[in-house]
Amino acid sequence: MKGKYLLAIDQGTSSSRTVIYDHAGTVVASAQQEFPQIYPQPGWVEHDPEAIWQSVQAVTADAMRAAKAGPDDITGVGITNQRETTVVWDRKTGDVIHNAIVWQDRRTADRCDELKAAGAEADVTARTGLKLDPYFSATKLAWLLDNVDGARARAEAGELAFGTIDSFLLWRLTGGSVHATDATNASRTLLYNVHSLRWDPDLLALFGIPKSLLPEVRDCAADFGVTDASLFGGEMPLCGVAGDQQAALIGQAGLSPGMTKSTYGTGCFVIANTGTEPLASGNQLLTTIAYQLDGEVTYGLEGSVFVAGSAIQWLRDSLGIIDSAPETEGIAAATGIVDDVVVVPAFAGLGAPYWDPHARGAILGLTRGSGRERIVTATLQSVAYQTHDLIDAMADDGIAPSVIRVDGGMVANDWFLQFLADVLGIPVERPRNIESTVLGAAFLAAYQAGLVDSATAIANLWESDRLYEPALSADRRDALLEGWKRAVLRVRGTNVTI
Ligand code: ADP
Repeated sequence: MKGKYLLAIDQGTSSSRTVIYDHAGTVVASAQQEFPQIYPQPGWVEHDPEAIWQSVQAVTADAMRAAKAGPDDITGVGITNQRETTVVWDRKTGDVIHNAIVWQDRRTADRCDELKAAGAEADVTARTGLKLDPYFSATKLAWLLDNVDGARARAEAGELAFGTIDSFLLWRLTGGSVHATDATNASRTLLYNVHSLRWDPDLLALFGIPKSLLPEVRDCAADFGVTDASLFGGEMPLCGVAGDQQAALIGQAGLSPGMTKSTYGTGCFVIANTGTEPLASGNQLLTTIAYQLDGEVTYGLEGSVFVAGSAIQWLRDSLGIIDSAPETEGIAAATGIVDDVVVVPAFAGLGAPYWDPHARGAILGLTRGSGRERIVTATLQSVAYQTHDLIDAMADDGIAPSVIRVDGGMVANDWFLQFLADVLGIPVERPRNIESTVLGAAFLAAYQAGLVDSATAIANLWESDRLYEPALSADRRDALLEGWKRAVLRVRGTNVTI
Protein backbone atom coordinates (compact mmCIF):
# COMPACT_ATOMS: atom_id res chain seq x y z
CA MET A 1 0.00 0.00 0.00
CA LYS A 2 1.29 3.43 -0.86
CA GLY A 3 1.55 6.27 1.61
CA LYS A 4 1.42 6.82 5.33
CA TYR A 5 -1.30 9.48 5.49
CA LEU A 6 -5.01 9.99 4.84
CA LEU A 7 -6.17 13.31 3.44
CA ALA A 8 -9.67 14.58 4.27
CA ILE A 9 -11.34 17.59 2.65
CA ASP A 10 -14.22 19.28 4.51
CA GLN A 11 -15.97 21.70 2.19
CA GLY A 12 -18.26 23.56 4.60
CA THR A 13 -20.74 26.42 4.30
CA SER A 14 -18.37 29.14 5.41
CA SER A 15 -14.94 27.60 4.90
CA SER A 16 -12.98 24.80 3.27
CA ARG A 17 -10.58 22.70 5.27
CA THR A 18 -8.12 19.92 4.62
CA VAL A 19 -6.76 17.72 7.40
CA ILE A 20 -4.00 15.16 7.00
CA TYR A 21 -4.02 12.20 9.42
CA ASP A 22 -1.58 9.39 9.96
CA HIS A 23 -2.93 5.85 9.80
CA ALA A 24 -3.63 5.85 13.56
CA GLY A 25 -6.02 8.78 13.10
CA THR A 26 -3.72 11.44 14.59
CA VAL A 27 -3.78 14.88 12.97
CA VAL A 28 -0.51 15.64 11.19
CA ALA A 29 -1.39 18.96 9.54
CA SER A 30 -4.39 21.03 8.55
CA ALA A 31 -5.27 24.19 6.65
CA GLN A 32 -8.47 26.22 6.44
CA GLN A 33 -9.75 29.09 4.32
CA GLU A 34 -12.98 31.05 4.38
CA PHE A 35 -14.71 32.07 1.16
CA PRO A 36 -17.33 34.77 0.45
CA GLN A 37 -21.05 34.36 1.07
CA ILE A 38 -23.22 35.98 -1.59
CA TYR A 39 -26.65 37.40 -0.65
CA PRO A 40 -28.24 38.69 -3.90
CA GLN A 41 -31.67 39.31 -2.29
CA PRO A 42 -33.26 38.71 1.12
CA GLY A 43 -33.62 34.96 1.61
CA TRP A 44 -31.20 34.11 -1.22
CA VAL A 45 -27.76 32.62 -0.47
CA GLU A 46 -25.18 31.74 -3.13
CA HIS A 47 -21.57 30.61 -3.34
CA ASP A 48 -19.22 31.10 -6.26
CA PRO A 49 -18.23 27.51 -7.18
CA GLU A 50 -14.91 28.82 -8.51
CA ALA A 51 -14.16 30.36 -5.09
CA ILE A 52 -15.01 27.02 -3.47
CA TRP A 53 -12.77 25.19 -5.91
CA GLN A 54 -9.89 27.67 -5.42
CA SER A 55 -10.19 27.34 -1.64
CA VAL A 56 -10.19 23.53 -1.77
CA GLN A 57 -7.10 23.48 -3.95
CA ALA A 58 -5.35 26.02 -1.71
CA VAL A 59 -6.05 24.29 1.62
CA THR A 60 -5.15 20.88 0.19
CA ALA A 61 -1.82 22.16 -1.15
CA ASP A 62 -1.18 24.04 2.14
CA ALA A 63 -1.94 21.01 4.33
CA MET A 64 0.29 18.80 2.16
CA ARG A 65 3.08 21.35 2.40
CA ALA A 66 2.69 21.58 6.19
CA ALA A 67 2.80 17.77 6.47
CA LYS A 68 5.76 17.68 4.04
CA ALA A 69 3.65 15.17 2.10
CA GLY A 70 3.68 14.50 -1.62
CA PRO A 71 0.95 12.63 -3.52
CA ASP A 72 2.77 9.34 -2.92
CA ASP A 73 2.44 9.82 0.84
CA ILE A 74 -1.37 9.89 0.61
CA THR A 75 -3.05 6.51 0.90
CA GLY A 76 -6.49 7.88 0.15
CA VAL A 77 -8.59 11.05 0.01
CA GLY A 78 -11.98 11.48 1.70
CA ILE A 79 -14.43 14.30 1.00
CA THR A 80 -17.21 15.64 3.20
CA ASN A 81 -19.30 18.63 2.25
CA GLN A 82 -22.09 21.09 2.95
CA ARG A 83 -25.16 19.19 1.83
CA GLU A 84 -27.97 20.08 -0.63
CA THR A 85 -26.11 23.05 -2.16
CA THR A 86 -26.70 22.84 -5.90
CA VAL A 87 -24.28 23.35 -8.81
CA VAL A 88 -24.77 22.92 -12.57
CA TRP A 89 -21.89 22.91 -15.03
CA ASP A 90 -21.14 22.26 -18.70
CA ARG A 91 -19.89 18.73 -19.33
CA LYS A 92 -17.54 19.83 -22.13
CA THR A 93 -15.96 22.97 -20.70
CA GLY A 94 -16.48 22.29 -16.99
CA ASP A 95 -17.75 25.89 -16.64
CA VAL A 96 -20.54 26.42 -14.13
CA ILE A 97 -23.71 28.02 -15.53
CA HIS A 98 -24.54 30.00 -12.36
CA ASN A 99 -23.46 30.43 -8.76
CA ALA A 100 -24.22 27.52 -6.45
CA ILE A 101 -27.58 27.86 -4.69
CA VAL A 102 -26.81 27.20 -1.02
CA TRP A 103 -28.90 24.97 1.27
CA GLN A 104 -30.03 28.01 3.28
CA ASP A 105 -31.54 29.68 0.19
CA ARG A 106 -35.34 30.13 0.34
CA ARG A 107 -35.99 31.35 -3.23
CA THR A 108 -38.03 28.29 -4.12
CA ALA A 109 -40.42 28.55 -1.15
CA ASP A 110 -43.34 29.50 -3.43
CA ARG A 111 -42.66 26.56 -5.72
CA CYS A 112 -42.65 24.21 -2.72
CA ASP A 113 -45.93 25.75 -1.51
CA GLU A 114 -47.47 25.20 -4.96
CA LEU A 115 -46.44 21.54 -4.96
CA LYS A 116 -47.75 21.13 -1.43
CA ALA A 117 -51.05 22.75 -2.37
CA ALA A 118 -51.25 20.24 -5.24
CA GLY A 119 -51.00 17.49 -2.63
CA ALA A 120 -47.53 16.24 -3.55
CA GLU A 121 -45.83 16.23 -0.14
CA ALA A 122 -46.98 12.91 1.32
CA ASP A 123 -45.75 10.99 -1.71
CA VAL A 124 -42.47 12.93 -1.85
CA THR A 125 -41.88 12.20 1.84
CA ALA A 126 -42.72 8.53 1.42
CA ARG A 127 -40.14 8.20 -1.36
CA THR A 128 -37.35 10.46 -0.05
CA GLY A 129 -37.80 10.63 3.73
CA LEU A 130 -37.61 14.44 3.42
CA LYS A 131 -40.06 17.34 3.42
CA LEU A 132 -41.11 19.44 0.46
CA ASP A 133 -38.88 22.31 1.49
CA PRO A 134 -36.58 24.73 -0.39
CA TYR A 135 -33.75 23.42 1.84
CA PHE A 136 -33.27 20.38 -0.44
CA SER A 137 -31.77 20.41 -3.96
CA ALA A 138 -34.60 19.54 -6.38
CA THR A 139 -36.38 22.90 -6.55
CA LYS A 140 -33.04 24.74 -6.60
CA LEU A 141 -31.98 22.69 -9.63
CA ALA A 142 -35.31 23.32 -11.37
CA TRP A 143 -34.89 27.04 -10.64
CA LEU A 144 -31.50 27.05 -12.39
CA LEU A 145 -32.92 25.25 -15.43
CA ASP A 146 -35.79 27.74 -15.66
CA ASN A 147 -33.87 30.94 -14.91
CA VAL A 148 -30.50 30.60 -16.62
CA ASP A 149 -30.78 31.40 -20.33
CA GLY A 150 -30.88 28.25 -22.44
CA ALA A 151 -30.19 25.95 -19.48
CA ARG A 152 -33.22 23.72 -19.88
CA ALA A 153 -32.56 23.12 -23.58
CA ARG A 154 -28.89 22.40 -22.88
CA ALA A 155 -29.88 20.02 -20.07
CA GLU A 156 -32.29 18.20 -22.35
CA ALA A 157 -29.53 17.89 -24.95
CA GLY A 158 -27.34 16.21 -22.32
CA GLU A 159 -24.79 19.03 -22.24
CA LEU A 160 -25.04 19.86 -18.54
CA ALA A 161 -24.24 18.09 -15.28
CA PHE A 162 -25.81 18.62 -11.85
CA GLY A 163 -24.09 17.95 -8.60
CA THR A 164 -24.06 18.72 -4.91
CA ILE A 165 -20.68 20.05 -3.76
CA ASP A 166 -19.15 16.56 -3.49
CA SER A 167 -19.94 15.82 -7.15
CA PHE A 168 -18.67 19.19 -8.29
CA LEU A 169 -15.39 18.66 -6.41
CA LEU A 170 -15.04 15.08 -7.71
CA TRP A 171 -15.52 16.38 -11.25
CA ARG A 172 -12.89 19.10 -10.80
CA LEU A 173 -10.46 16.92 -8.84
CA THR A 174 -10.54 14.18 -11.49
CA GLY A 175 -10.13 16.64 -14.36
CA GLY A 176 -13.71 16.03 -15.50
CA SER A 177 -13.53 12.25 -15.71
CA VAL A 178 -15.85 11.30 -12.84
CA HIS A 179 -19.47 12.43 -12.41
CA ALA A 180 -20.52 10.67 -9.24
CA THR A 181 -21.92 11.24 -5.78
CA ASP A 182 -22.44 9.05 -2.73
CA ALA A 183 -25.71 7.75 -1.30
CA THR A 184 -25.79 10.22 1.64
CA ASN A 185 -25.56 13.27 -0.61
CA ALA A 186 -28.02 11.76 -3.10
CA SER A 187 -30.48 11.24 -0.24
CA ARG A 188 -30.68 15.03 0.32
CA THR A 189 -31.74 16.01 -3.19
CA LEU A 190 -35.48 15.11 -3.08
CA LEU A 191 -34.80 13.15 -6.29
CA TYR A 192 -33.41 9.94 -4.79
CA ASN A 193 -35.73 7.20 -3.63
CA VAL A 194 -34.29 5.96 -0.34
CA HIS A 195 -36.16 2.65 -0.61
CA SER A 196 -35.45 1.61 -4.21
CA LEU A 197 -31.99 3.30 -4.00
CA ARG A 198 -32.19 4.98 -7.37
CA TRP A 199 -33.04 8.33 -8.92
CA ASP A 200 -36.84 8.20 -8.91
CA PRO A 201 -38.42 8.73 -12.37
CA ASP A 202 -41.66 10.06 -10.83
CA LEU A 203 -39.78 12.60 -8.75
CA LEU A 204 -37.74 13.67 -11.78
CA ALA A 205 -41.04 14.21 -13.61
CA LEU A 206 -42.60 16.08 -10.69
CA PHE A 207 -39.70 18.52 -10.40
CA GLY A 208 -39.01 18.68 -14.16
CA ILE A 209 -35.45 17.35 -14.06
CA PRO A 210 -33.89 15.58 -17.09
CA LYS A 211 -32.18 12.38 -15.96
CA SER A 212 -29.06 13.08 -18.04
CA LEU A 213 -28.06 15.76 -15.51
CA LEU A 214 -27.60 13.33 -12.64
CA PRO A 215 -24.42 11.82 -11.23
CA GLU A 216 -23.91 8.11 -10.63
CA VAL A 217 -24.57 7.14 -7.00
CA ARG A 218 -21.86 5.09 -5.25
CA ASP A 219 -21.11 3.74 -1.77
CA CYS A 220 -19.56 6.18 0.72
CA ALA A 221 -16.34 4.18 0.57
CA ALA A 222 -15.76 3.50 -3.13
CA ASP A 223 -13.46 4.15 -6.05
CA PHE A 224 -14.16 7.77 -7.04
CA GLY A 225 -11.17 8.00 -9.40
CA VAL A 226 -7.85 9.76 -8.82
CA THR A 227 -6.87 13.40 -8.55
CA ASP A 228 -5.64 14.84 -11.82
CA ALA A 229 -1.84 14.71 -11.73
CA SER A 230 -1.54 18.39 -12.66
CA LEU A 231 -3.26 19.55 -9.45
CA PHE A 232 -1.03 18.35 -6.60
CA GLY A 233 2.00 16.96 -8.41
CA GLY A 234 0.69 13.42 -8.84
CA GLU A 235 -2.35 11.21 -8.58
CA MET A 236 -4.09 10.44 -5.27
CA PRO A 237 -6.99 7.96 -4.93
CA LEU A 238 -10.36 9.55 -4.14
CA CYS A 239 -12.08 6.92 -2.05
CA GLY A 240 -14.50 8.31 0.56
CA VAL A 241 -17.49 10.68 0.29
CA ALA A 242 -20.28 11.63 2.72
CA GLY A 243 -22.40 14.68 3.48
CA ASP A 244 -21.20 16.61 6.54
CA GLN A 245 -23.73 15.43 9.14
CA GLN A 246 -23.45 11.82 8.04
CA ALA A 247 -19.66 12.11 8.09
CA ALA A 248 -19.93 13.38 11.68
CA LEU A 249 -21.92 10.26 12.61
CA ILE A 250 -19.20 8.11 11.03
CA GLY A 251 -16.45 10.17 12.71
CA GLN A 252 -18.24 9.51 15.99
CA ALA A 253 -18.19 5.80 15.11
CA GLY A 254 -22.00 5.82 15.31
CA LEU A 255 -22.06 2.57 13.38
CA SER A 256 -24.62 0.47 15.18
CA PRO A 257 -28.39 0.93 15.53
CA GLY A 258 -29.43 3.38 18.25
CA MET A 259 -26.10 5.24 18.31
CA THR A 260 -26.74 8.96 18.18
CA LYS A 261 -24.59 12.03 17.61
CA SER A 262 -25.35 15.68 18.06
CA THR A 263 -23.18 18.31 16.36
CA TYR A 264 -23.07 21.83 17.81
CA GLY A 265 -21.80 24.35 15.28
CA THR A 266 -23.83 27.27 13.97
CA GLY A 267 -26.91 25.06 14.28
CA CYS A 268 -27.34 21.66 15.91
CA PHE A 269 -27.85 18.47 13.93
CA VAL A 270 -28.81 15.19 15.56
CA ILE A 271 -28.64 11.90 13.67
CA ALA A 272 -29.56 8.53 15.15
CA ASN A 273 -28.46 5.35 13.41
CA THR A 274 -31.66 3.35 12.82
CA GLY A 275 -30.13 0.31 11.12
CA THR A 276 -30.85 -1.31 7.78
CA GLU A 277 -34.58 -0.51 7.65
CA PRO A 278 -35.78 3.07 7.07
CA LEU A 279 -37.84 4.47 9.92
CA ALA A 280 -40.61 6.92 8.99
CA SER A 281 -41.01 9.60 11.65
CA GLY A 282 -44.34 10.45 13.19
CA ASN A 283 -42.76 13.65 14.52
CA GLN A 284 -41.57 15.50 11.43
CA LEU A 285 -38.01 14.22 11.66
CA LEU A 286 -36.21 13.30 8.42
CA THR A 287 -35.41 9.79 7.26
CA THR A 288 -32.04 9.85 5.59
CA ILE A 289 -29.23 7.58 4.45
CA ALA A 290 -26.66 7.53 7.24
CA TYR A 291 -24.10 5.70 5.10
CA GLN A 292 -23.76 3.02 2.46
CA LEU A 293 -20.88 0.57 2.76
CA ASP A 294 -20.30 -2.53 0.61
CA GLY A 295 -23.64 -1.94 -1.09
CA GLU A 296 -25.60 -2.02 2.16
CA VAL A 297 -27.54 1.03 3.29
CA THR A 298 -27.78 2.10 6.92
CA TYR A 299 -30.53 4.61 7.62
CA GLY A 300 -30.65 7.53 10.01
CA LEU A 301 -33.29 9.65 11.67
CA GLU A 302 -32.31 13.32 11.59
CA GLY A 303 -33.48 16.44 13.34
CA SER A 304 -32.04 19.92 13.35
CA VAL A 305 -32.11 23.03 15.49
CA PHE A 306 -31.45 26.15 13.41
CA VAL A 307 -29.82 28.20 16.16
CA ALA A 308 -27.18 26.70 18.48
CA GLY A 309 -23.70 28.28 18.36
CA SER A 310 -25.19 31.19 16.47
CA ALA A 311 -27.13 32.10 19.65
CA ILE A 312 -23.74 32.52 21.33
CA GLN A 313 -22.62 34.66 18.40
CA TRP A 314 -25.79 36.74 18.90
CA LEU A 315 -24.81 37.34 22.56
CA ARG A 316 -21.41 38.49 21.35
CA ASP A 317 -22.15 40.37 18.13
CA SER A 318 -25.74 41.65 18.43
CA LEU A 319 -26.22 42.15 22.17
CA GLY A 320 -22.53 42.74 22.88
CA ILE A 321 -22.85 41.24 26.40
CA ILE A 322 -19.91 38.85 26.01
CA ASP A 323 -16.55 39.35 24.31
CA SER A 324 -16.01 35.76 23.24
CA ALA A 325 -17.90 32.45 23.06
CA PRO A 326 -15.71 30.61 25.64
CA GLU A 327 -16.55 33.32 28.21
CA THR A 328 -20.07 31.87 28.48
CA GLU A 329 -18.75 28.87 30.40
CA GLY A 330 -17.39 30.86 33.34
CA ILE A 331 -20.48 33.08 33.45
CA ALA A 332 -22.84 30.09 33.57
CA ALA A 333 -20.73 28.26 36.15
CA ALA A 334 -20.81 31.33 38.42
CA THR A 335 -24.53 31.95 37.86
CA GLY A 336 -25.82 28.38 38.12
CA ILE A 337 -28.90 26.97 36.42
CA VAL A 338 -31.38 29.76 35.68
CA ASP A 339 -35.07 29.00 36.09
CA ASP A 340 -36.67 32.43 36.04
CA VAL A 341 -35.41 33.74 32.70
CA VAL A 342 -35.94 31.73 29.49
CA VAL A 343 -34.38 32.62 26.14
CA VAL A 344 -36.06 31.14 23.05
CA PRO A 345 -33.65 31.77 20.16
CA ALA A 346 -36.26 31.25 17.42
CA PHE A 347 -34.49 33.80 15.21
CA ALA A 348 -35.41 31.93 12.04
CA GLY A 349 -38.53 30.17 13.23
CA LEU A 350 -38.42 26.84 15.03
CA GLY A 351 -37.16 23.63 13.42
CA ALA A 352 -38.02 20.05 14.36
CA PRO A 353 -40.27 19.02 15.98
CA TYR A 354 -42.20 22.32 15.73
CA TRP A 355 -41.50 23.41 12.13
CA ASP A 356 -42.94 26.84 12.82
CA PRO A 357 -41.44 29.34 10.34
CA HIS A 358 -43.48 32.13 11.94
CA ALA A 359 -42.10 31.82 15.48
CA ARG A 360 -39.65 34.54 16.51
CA GLY A 361 -37.22 34.77 19.41
CA ALA A 362 -37.96 36.10 22.89
CA ILE A 363 -36.49 36.57 26.35
CA LEU A 364 -39.15 35.78 28.93
CA GLY A 365 -39.29 36.23 32.69
CA LEU A 366 -37.22 39.40 32.99
CA THR A 367 -37.31 41.32 36.26
CA ARG A 368 -35.45 44.47 37.31
CA GLY A 369 -32.61 42.36 38.62
CA SER A 370 -32.09 40.17 35.53
CA GLY A 371 -28.61 40.95 34.26
CA ARG A 372 -26.39 39.71 31.46
CA GLU A 373 -25.36 36.66 33.49
CA ARG A 374 -28.89 35.28 33.50
CA ILE A 375 -29.42 35.98 29.78
CA VAL A 376 -26.10 34.35 28.85
CA THR A 377 -26.79 31.27 30.98
CA ALA A 378 -30.37 30.98 29.77
CA THR A 379 -29.08 31.11 26.18
CA LEU A 380 -26.78 28.13 26.78
CA GLN A 381 -29.70 26.35 28.43
CA SER A 382 -31.92 27.01 25.39
CA VAL A 383 -29.61 24.95 23.17
CA ALA A 384 -29.92 22.02 25.59
CA TYR A 385 -33.71 22.36 25.74
CA GLN A 386 -33.96 22.32 21.96
CA THR A 387 -31.83 19.17 21.86
CA HIS A 388 -34.17 17.65 24.43
CA ASP A 389 -37.17 18.34 22.18
CA LEU A 390 -35.45 16.55 19.27
CA ILE A 391 -34.40 13.56 21.37
CA ASP A 392 -37.90 13.40 22.81
CA ALA A 393 -39.34 13.31 19.27
CA MET A 394 -36.90 10.52 18.38
CA ALA A 395 -37.92 8.57 21.48
CA ASP A 396 -41.53 8.88 20.37
CA ASP A 397 -40.47 7.41 17.02
CA GLY A 398 -38.97 4.45 18.91
CA ILE A 399 -35.31 5.49 19.07
CA ALA A 400 -34.06 5.92 22.62
CA PRO A 401 -30.25 6.18 22.76
CA SER A 402 -28.46 5.30 25.99
CA VAL A 403 -25.79 7.95 25.40
CA ILE A 404 -25.40 10.92 23.04
CA ARG A 405 -22.02 11.58 21.43
CA VAL A 406 -21.42 15.28 20.90
CA ASP A 407 -19.07 17.29 18.69
CA GLY A 408 -18.64 20.72 17.09
CA GLY A 409 -17.29 24.04 18.41
CA MET A 410 -19.75 24.44 21.31
CA VAL A 411 -18.75 21.19 23.01
CA ALA A 412 -15.60 22.83 24.33
CA ASN A 413 -18.02 24.22 26.95
CA ASP A 414 -18.10 21.81 29.93
CA TRP A 415 -20.93 23.63 31.69
CA PHE A 416 -23.10 23.34 28.61
CA LEU A 417 -22.45 19.60 28.28
CA GLN A 418 -23.22 18.94 31.96
CA PHE A 419 -26.47 20.86 31.64
CA LEU A 420 -27.24 18.98 28.42
CA ALA A 421 -26.84 15.63 30.22
CA ASP A 422 -29.00 16.97 33.09
CA VAL A 423 -31.79 17.99 30.75
CA LEU A 424 -31.67 14.92 28.51
CA GLY A 425 -31.50 12.59 31.49
CA ILE A 426 -28.95 10.45 29.65
CA PRO A 427 -25.14 10.61 29.56
CA VAL A 428 -23.41 12.86 27.03
CA GLU A 429 -20.01 11.84 25.74
CA ARG A 430 -17.36 14.04 24.16
CA PRO A 431 -14.66 12.44 22.00
CA ARG A 432 -11.01 13.37 22.19
CA ASN A 433 -11.23 14.70 18.64
CA ILE A 434 -14.26 17.01 18.43
CA GLU A 435 -13.77 17.52 14.67
CA SER A 436 -15.92 14.48 13.86
CA THR A 437 -17.01 15.59 10.38
CA VAL A 438 -13.60 15.67 8.75
CA LEU A 439 -12.52 12.61 10.75
CA GLY A 440 -15.52 10.74 9.27
CA ALA A 441 -14.28 11.49 5.75
CA ALA A 442 -10.85 10.15 6.73
CA PHE A 443 -12.44 6.98 8.22
CA LEU A 444 -14.25 6.35 4.91
CA ALA A 445 -11.02 6.74 2.95
CA ALA A 446 -9.30 4.37 5.43
CA TYR A 447 -12.08 1.83 4.96
CA GLN A 448 -11.83 1.88 1.18
CA ALA A 449 -8.03 1.73 1.35
CA GLY A 450 -8.31 -1.40 3.49
CA LEU A 451 -6.62 0.16 6.54
CA VAL A 452 -9.69 -0.72 8.58
CA ASP A 453 -11.79 -3.62 7.48
CA SER A 454 -14.97 -3.27 9.53
CA ALA A 455 -17.21 -0.91 11.40
CA THR A 456 -15.79 -2.42 14.58
CA ALA A 457 -12.29 -1.43 13.53
CA ILE A 458 -13.50 2.16 13.06
CA ALA A 459 -15.21 2.04 16.46
CA ASN A 460 -11.87 0.98 17.98
CA LEU A 461 -10.21 4.13 16.62
CA TRP A 462 -12.75 6.37 18.36
CA GLU A 463 -11.54 7.75 21.69
CA SER A 464 -13.64 9.19 24.50
CA ASP A 465 -12.50 12.35 26.27
CA ARG A 466 -15.20 12.78 28.89
CA LEU A 467 -18.58 11.39 29.90
CA TYR A 468 -21.13 13.74 31.50
CA GLU A 469 -23.64 11.91 33.69
CA PRO A 470 -27.06 13.43 34.45
CA ALA A 471 -27.01 14.82 37.99
CA LEU A 472 -30.22 16.81 38.31
CA SER A 473 -33.23 15.56 40.28
CA ALA A 474 -36.23 14.52 38.20
CA ASP A 475 -38.37 17.23 39.84
CA ARG A 476 -35.94 20.01 38.99
CA ARG A 477 -35.55 18.75 35.45
CA ASP A 478 -39.30 18.52 34.91
CA ALA A 479 -39.79 22.03 36.26
CA LEU A 480 -37.13 23.46 33.93
CA LEU A 481 -38.60 21.67 30.92
CA GLU A 482 -42.08 22.86 31.86
CA GLY A 483 -40.81 26.46 31.91
CA TRP A 484 -39.20 25.96 28.50
CA LYS A 485 -42.38 24.44 27.07
CA ARG A 486 -44.46 27.39 28.28
CA ALA A 487 -41.95 29.82 26.77
CA VAL A 488 -42.04 28.02 23.40
CA LEU A 489 -45.84 28.21 23.36
CA ARG A 490 -45.60 31.97 23.86
CA VAL A 491 -43.37 32.50 20.80
CA ARG A 492 -45.31 30.35 18.33
CA GLY A 493 -46.49 32.49 15.39
CA THR A 494 -45.02 35.72 16.75
CA ASN A 495 -43.53 37.08 13.52
CA VAL A 496 -45.20 40.50 13.75
CA THR A 497 -44.52 41.42 10.13
CA ILE A 498 -46.76 38.73 8.65
P1 ADP B 1 -19.44 25.76 12.16
O1 ADP B 1 -18.71 24.54 11.68
O2 ADP B 1 -20.93 25.71 12.04
O3 ADP B 1 -18.87 27.06 11.66
P2 ADP B 1 -18.06 25.19 14.70
O4 ADP B 1 -18.23 23.74 14.89
O5 ADP B 1 -16.73 25.74 14.35
O6 ADP B 1 -19.19 25.80 13.75
O7 ADP B 1 -18.54 25.86 16.07
C1 ADP B 1 -18.53 27.24 16.24
C2 ADP B 1 -19.72 27.69 17.08
O8 ADP B 1 -19.52 27.25 18.44
C3 ADP B 1 -19.84 29.19 17.10
O9 ADP B 1 -21.18 29.53 16.81
C4 ADP B 1 -19.50 29.60 18.53
O10 ADP B 1 -20.34 30.63 18.96
C5 ADP B 1 -19.71 28.34 19.33
N1 ADP B 1 -18.71 28.18 20.41
C6 ADP B 1 -17.38 28.02 20.27
N2 ADP B 1 -16.79 27.88 21.48
C7 ADP B 1 -17.77 27.91 22.41
C8 ADP B 1 -17.82 27.82 23.84
N3 ADP B 1 -16.73 27.59 24.55
N4 ADP B 1 -19.03 27.91 24.44
C9 ADP B 1 -20.16 28.09 23.70
N5 ADP B 1 -20.17 28.19 22.36
C10 ADP B 1 -19.01 28.11 21.72
